[in-house]
Amino acid sequence: MPELPEVEITARRLDRALAGANVESALAPGMVTMKTFDPPLDALAGGTVAGVGRAGKMLVVRVDELAVLVHLMSAGRLQLWDKRASLRDKASRLLIRIDGGRELRLREFGTQQRAWAKLLPAGEVEADESVATLGPDAYPAPPVEELERILDEPRHLHPLLRDQRAIAGIGRSWVDEILWTARLSPFQRASELEPQQVEAIHDACDSILGAALDHYEQVIGDTVPDKLPMPLQVHRRAGDACPRCGTRIEAIHFKDYVMCYCPEEQTGGRVLKDRRLSKLLK
Ligand SMILES: [Zn+2]
Repeated sequence: MPELPEVEITARRLDRALAGANVESALAPGMVTMKTFDPPLDALAGGTVAGVGRAGKMLVVRVDELAVLVHLMSAGRLQLWDKRASLRDKASRLLIRIDGGRELRLREFGTQQRAWAKLLPAGEVEADESVATLGPDAYPAPPVEELERILDEPRHLHPLLRDQRAIAGIGRSWVDEILWTARLSPFQRASELEPQQVEAIHDACDSILGAALDHYEQVIGDTVPDKLPMPLQVHRRAGDACPRCGTRIEAIHFKDYVMCYCPEEQTGGRVLKDRRLSKLLK
């Protein structure tokens, strides 16, 4: 599930490999992938890649005066391949063929088609609804005063920090790491935070997301793998000992994600009700 550090390293690697390259052709095998039709995808043919960047959890591939805005959703990957995809590859959603036989390929795992792309005039990316509604990037963290305003909402921290309109780039993995680092409960009401707790979230965004990016810069070569080596300490670590205090990491299972936390340091020693477990016990 790519979040800010994963999308950022993807953008950096693609930018390094593609800036200045020429686009030969483009096609979209994913029937519902393209959310725009004007300009047509063919308009990319013959263009030169100006660069690859990131907007929140989205990628922006600029080709001359055009830009392809890509949202990977939960199972998409945008990768550069040396060879062209077989047209029978059911995971292919969007193929941008580069001179010399390479191919920038949006693939998606699983049967659902949720990843999407838009082809826009480059100058219209900022104004696109998906970009214009983003909050400030979580990394580098916004200034503490700005974060204070963002968090002044009567909502639980876990969903608020994952709300891209409030703050951009955090998803279900890194939110657990940030809250654990800041020693805050996922169910803490944001508007009731003390100033030093807001500061702790600010510092955790910088340290955790920054360390993830540094890690990726070290271990990821030219090709970003399907599964990134995420340096997680609590997320998906239920049952392990908390790396800081040794308490057993607990988890709460929701329909499509898991929330992990250290009860000792985040919830005042309380193990919160696991909805899945309580359902089973009914
Ligand atoms: Zn702990």
